[in-house]
Amino acid sequence: MTRSCSALGCTTRDNGRSRERGISFHQFPIDAIQRTKWIHAVNRVDPKSKKVWIPGPGAILCSKHFAETDFETYGMRRKLRKGAVPSVFHYK
Ligand SMILES: [Zn+2]
Repeated sequence: MTRSCSALGCTTRDNGRSRERGISFHQFPIDAIQRTKWIHAVNRVDPKSKKVWIPGPGAILCSKHFAETDFETYGMRRKLRKGAVPSVFHYK
């Protein structure tokens, strides 16, 4: 199954083509405080319950929603900084 980014309006899918373009994918944090920050940042409402959307176990965000400064670079690899919160969303 191809996973896709959980951000509203974002159509990035976790596949080889995205990764070739330098997009990385990041799972929601396990840490409760950090996880809540991400959920607030995503700001999604569940269409059925009308309540705040809660990410499922496989929920991911693509790297487009993070600032350049949220990443640490190790040679060719990019890693999300500890405590980074997504901040780049293109919808109102
Ligand atoms: Zn995305």
